[in-house]
Amino acid sequence: MNHDESRDLYDRSLSVMPGGVNSSVRAVRPYPFFVERGDGAHVIDADGNRYTDYVMGYGPLLYGHDMPDPVRSAVQSYASDGPMYGAPTEIEVDHAEFVARHVPSVEKIRFVNSGTEATVSAVRLARGYTGRDKIVVMKGGYHGAQESTLVEGEPGDTAPSTKGIPESFAEHTIPVPFNDEAAIDEVFEEYGDDVAAVLTEPILGNTGIVHPVDGYLQHLRDVTEEHGSLLIFDEVITGFRVGGLQCAQGKFGVTPDVTTFGKIIGGGFPVGAIGGQAEIMERFTPSGDVFQSGTFSGHPVTMAAGHASLTYAAENDVYDYVNDLAETLRRGLTDIVAEKAPSYTVVGTDSMFKTVFTREGPDDLTDACEAGCAQRDACPRYDYCPKNGADVSNAETERWERIFWQEMKDRGVFLTANQFESQFVSYAHTEEDIEETLEAYKAAL
Ligand code: PMP
Repeated sequence: MNHDESRDLYDRSLSVMPGGVNSSVRAVRPYPFFVERGDGAHVIDADGNRYTDYVMGYGPLLYGHDMPDPVRSAVQSYASDGPMYGAPTEIEVDHAEFVARHVPSVEKIRFVNSGTEATVSAVRLARGYTGRDKIVVMKGGYHGAQESTLVEGEPGDTAPSTKGIPESFAEHTIPVPFNDEAAIDEVFEEYGDDVAAVLTEPILGNTGIVHPVDGYLQHLRDVTEEHGSLLIFDEVITGFRVGGLQCAQGKFGVTPDVTTFGKIIGGGFPVGAIGGQAEIMERFTPSGDVFQSGTFSGHPVTMAAGHASLTYAAENDVYDYVNDLAETLRRGLTDIVAEKAPSYTVVGTDSMFKTVFTREGPDDLTDACEAGCAQRDACPRYDYCPKNGADVSNAETERWERIFWQEMKDRGVFLTANQFESQFVSYAHTEEDIEETLEAYKAAL
């Protein structure tokens, strides 16, 4: 594969953009390929190379790169009417009504412009509503580039995980291991009256895909209720992907007080949203006293794309199709991994998947992981599925990025370059794509 154009473009971009990119994960070593255009489940780079794409924009592209006709015409029509107004539009109401109708926790919703903005606003809302400062987050969880959650350490001994955040900000954040009920109980025993919210992804989607063990999310629900804290589910990745239109909260049967959204809810355009019970949501300005605002919030083109995308999913077999295809892929991968690299683990659910390069595991992993999820009794691989961020961070990250990812790229398969980030099957992928992808995995592994 020739990458001369991409290399030259990266050379130019290094002069004018920090690290040559606009989002850190894109700076794949030695240099990323530059995308010229999308085509169904594929992207074509600046040198004309074609890849089967499982990055899917890091999650927003449920349909791949070809928007279904109603989505395309909605986007074109709203864009040509004039991009935005700074006054309300009907399409915002349509989209809000749709989400409130389908997602258990949502009575009211505010649209913003990114997942980060959604989690920033949700944390402020929880603090304003409860009058408390502390938030509990999961180690290995990710909630965007925001001050309150870029924190590491142990309860009572935390520090910002990046330069540029005052030490004092980290004092209010309490990281705990995911799937550890005892750790949550301890934190609530010590800090219970000061905890504004527990903020977690229902499935850790930025850490190799870690599923909640049975009863864990319900335990979070019970503990927060008992102490007058809010439970916030960050469904930026899982929203309208896991559990279809009712999202992961519907799938797991646990309803949080507040939910954050991003990615799919905007149909491929910049978006975030905070939804929840009316009484809590009304605390946002202008009705309440928790300031929230945004020039581009509820952007008509984004709203049109998101609403048409979700309506299309409601009226067609989208979720059955992508979930079945991803299941085929996970099963195929499980067989290949069992044969070629038995210490590695295949994880995922619905249309999410990843192979985690775990270092330990039994030698005789021949049974496919049925649902790709942690089903304690049924699953022969249960003990080897990652249960928290630490399990995944033991993975062979360098081998993934420097060797495996490159090998897959050279075979025409575009995966997330980072060992920890989820990959996605879209409505544009076909059985043939899956077969070719499995062949590539087999060869590369
Ligand atoms: N929350 C989660 C769970 C995410 O996965 C992400 C981004 N991958 C964010 C928040 C931040 O969203 P954005 O990048 O749109 O700011």
